[in-house]
Amino acid sequence: MNIKNRHEDFWKKKLTDQQYHVLREKGTHERGMYKCAACGAELFSSETKFDSGTGWPSFDKPENLENVELKDDNSLGMHRVEVICKNCGSHLGHVFDDGPTETGKRYCINSCALDFQAQ
Ligand SMILES: [Zn+2]
Repeated sequence: MNIKNRHEDFWKKKLTDQQYHVLREKGTHERGMYKCAACGAELFSSETKFDSGTGWPSFDKPENLENVELKDDNSLGMHRVEVICKNCGSHLGHVFDDGPTETGKRYCINSCALDFQAQ
């Protein structure tokens, strides 16, 4: 039997709920935690992630304020606020005050600084 013709029940049994959702239903809302790629500190939850249209992972608040440090960054002739992993000192990205949600913040984080762990 051609694997393309398998009944959806076959995939439901074979895959985890989450895999089924993503692979067979084209689900995109993966729930999980974004961790610091360098040290593994929990930084952002998928629940706070939104599509900013910039192509960068964007969040409206950190999972735990204890894990991030904000620092004024005046490089490149402009004022920005740098987001740093408090645990290991790694640069993560920047935070801006033009977020679309109630926090008003847009944490614009470099995707390679994050390690996603699905829940
Ligand atoms: Zn870190």
